[in-house]
Amino acid sequence: MSKTVVAFAPGRVELLGNHTDYNEGLVLAAAIDLGVTARAERLEADVLEVSSETNGRRAQASLDQRAPFTGDSAWANYPLGVIRTLRDAGLEVGGLRLQVSSNLPLGWGLSSSAAFEVSTALAALSLYDLSVEPMTLAKLCQKAENEFVGVQCGLLDQASSVFGREGEVIRLDFREVSASTVPMPAHAALLLVDSGVPHELSGGEYNERRAQCRAAAAALGVRALRDVTSKAVAAATSLDPVTRARALHITGENERVQAGVAALEANRLDDFGRLMFESHESSKRNFGNSTSFLDSLVEIAAATPGVLGARLTGGGFGGATIWLVEKAQAPAILQTVPEAYHRKTGATCKVLLTKPSQGARLLHG
Ligand code: ADP
Ligand code: MG
Repeated sequence: MSKTVVAFAPGRVELLGNHTDYNEGLVLAAAIDLGVTARAERLEADVLEVSSETNGRRAQASLDQRAPFTGDSAWANYPLGVIRTLRDAGLEVGGLRLQVSSNLPLGWGLSSSAAFEVSTALAALSLYDLSVEPMTLAKLCQKAENEFVGVQCGLLDQASSVFGREGEVIRLDFREVSASTVPMPAHAALLLVDSGVPHELSGGEYNERRAQCRAAAAALGVRALRDVTSKAVAAATSLDPVTRARALHITGENERVQAGVAALEANRLDDFGRLMFESHESSKRNFGNSTSFLDSLVEIAAATPGVLGARLTGGGFGGATIWLVEKAQAPAILQTVPEAYHRKTGATCKVLLTKPSQGARLLHG
């Protein structure tokens, strides 16, 4: 019987450190308990056959195909890009049939693309008895998305999917390109609250923010915003107001990640929660990547008993918020938030209880 391999890779949530990954900065993230499952079997021919239960589609390509898929088949560029990138790196993955399914809600910004890439890579490598270091795996998947899909994402999504640990938060350093984990106190729980407004503008806005951060670093005479403190940015006279605000968001986020790790280590969850509220305020005032819907959710969070902190998570411009709550009060909070949000905005939100979870792994094979 031919060998079958099944791999799972989770989505992720960013807890602190917004837009810092491409500024060589720091992020606190967690893998969540939802993600993409990829089942792989060998094929004799040098082809990739891929089908997705999520969108009901299938696609096929030669492993050496250089041209990306277009139109309705563009989703298949994620796995084709991964296989191509692995082969270009000298990892001799051969023909395979890949079947994927996902329990990640779409449009929440939980990084289904990275979960798709990482589960594909893990399944394909295992199918051909190959392996790579975890950070190499994350980087190859990022390269596939940058170069083959054409999305200039940082390394956060793939690294979080790879390095997640049950009950722990991941501290990522994008200058050292390293990951370590810090335990999350057991009485805490995470709620994802989606604003119901997908982050559709993120393509153009995201690239614009990247350019503004680059311009800020250049004006400050440093390689990346990682090299400056908020104090130095505030004191710099050479920056126009918008550039200064963008820079302050990044430096503030780096500082909040460091304070957040210290708070977790000291078991001071309320301090950690305060940092999350501050992070959202900075997104709103300095980085301009919030929306009135995300702001409304965070205002509701601040007025809800048992909520320690809340902020937008991921790129922004829509998508979801992440709430740190007392586990014992999570059921009551889940009950009341949708109605409060509807009353305040007229819109409908969706709520999900999640927890810091194990990263990408083989389920079979
Ligand atoms: P995010 O990564 O935040 O979920 P992206 O826009 O980066 O959002 O990636 C979403 C895209 O990834 C989808 O539009 C689709 O092309 C692809 N994708 C993710 N999961 C699946 C899946 N299970 N089946 C097919 N395509 C998927
Ligand atoms: Mg993505």
